[in-house]
Amino acid sequence: MLDINKIRSDFPILSRQINGKPLVYFDNGATSQKPTVVIEAIAKYYEEINANIHRGVHRLSQLATDAYEQSREKIRAHLNAALAHEVLFTSGTTFGINLVSNGFASILKPGDEVLVSALEHHSNIVPWQMLCERTGAVLKVIPMNTHGELIISEYEKLLAGNVKLVAVNHISNALGTVNPIKEMIAKAHAAGAAILIDGAQAVPHLKPDVQELDCDFYVFSGHKICGPTGTGILYGKEAWLNKLPPYQGGGEMIKEVSFEKTTYAELPHKFEAGTPNIAGGIVLGTAVDYMNAVGFENIQQQESELLTYGTQKLLEIEGLTIFGTAKEKTSVISFNINGIHPYDIGAILDKMGIAVRTGHHCAQPIMQFFGIPGTVRASFAFYNTKEEIDMLVTAVKKAKMMLS
Ligand SMILES: *Cc1c(COP(=O)(O)O)cnc(C)c1O
Repeated sequence: MLDINKIRSDFPILSRQINGKPLVYFDNGATSQKPTVVIEAIAKYYEEINANIHRGVHRLSQLATDAYEQSREKIRAHLNAALAHEVLFTSGTTFGINLVSNGFASILKPGDEVLVSALEHHSNIVPWQMLCERTGAVLKVIPMNTHGELIISEYEKLLAGNVKLVAVNHISNALGTVNPIKEMIAKAHAAGAAILIDGAQAVPHLKPDVQELDCDFYVFSGHKICGPTGTGILYGKEAWLNKLPPYQGGGEMIKEVSFEKTTYAELPHKFEAGTPNIAGGIVLGTAVDYMNAVGFENIQQQESELLTYGTQKLLEIEGLTIFGTAKEKTSVISFNINGIHPYDIGAILDKMGIAVRTGHHCAQPIMQFFGIPGTVRASFAFYNTKEEIDMLVTAVKKAKMMLS
């Protein structure tokens, strides 16, 4: 069990006030808050070992390089990747997906098919649309049911086509649906397609095992797991990373450069052009350590209690509808109240110190599916409490009275 007071004291921001009220932070789906160990590790890096990596013989450069590579190794172990050079540092999920989609431009032919799902974030839709425009490949969509669950029988039918690549999220940011990705990965492979998993919303709640999943690519952002913004990971199977061309050209990614010809560096450097976010990459390892110290079993238990409690309490409000009622879901509650614009509810909640996200959550096709402009989304983290949910429920009731 979590010592929730101890956990909350790890996050300085949780004790601040907003609009004269204690902050209730329920926008964890957009970004998580940061514990003191992470905040301090950033300062410590700049105070003690700041230098460019992989470039200097001097002591500081070696210290910085070692810390960066140790972090890569830590993340490799966390994901259970077979090889450290299958773990690439990126600036986030968006960058990782663009790196892969750009690489596939040299592989896809006109008439090839790329599958995404009806549940995707824009960053797992638009890069594939751009890829299809460039290559003449065709984008197709795995549909969902009204609970927000993907329809696997339809996925199987689509896989009978000329599918070369599937891109699907592990967990939906807008609805919280947990997709059956292990099964989806096996089916993609059986159909001869590669598969990328957008794990941005999964890594805050669980520890993915990329070898057990057998996915070809797995991407996520550091800032949603207590790490710094501008950090992220692209895991790719070695064979795929060797096959894809580099994404950006520059320093660090080369073996030899002349004006006639350049040869590329080995993995992972081939995909890590230029000076990276060194502090960020190192501190992402600190964040992963922190999450593991809290423990994913504890995280899941706390969050599942919050989800059950929050769902029950919010549904007691007349006229409130929850979007996303999948059997397997994480601690996200997306809702609307009859005839009231989500933005208006969000603005009143903010006055009461409660941070939620309102709008389409970068997933407009999901909103189109339900025929709504957006939702109010409360997304809970392990450091949230039932008392905070009570405050949300009280505030939503008040907002409803004021607005109807
Ligand atoms: C947040 C998120 C992204 C985008 O992540 P960035 O950190 O903005 O690059 C992509 N997919 C999902 C499911 C997300 O939740």
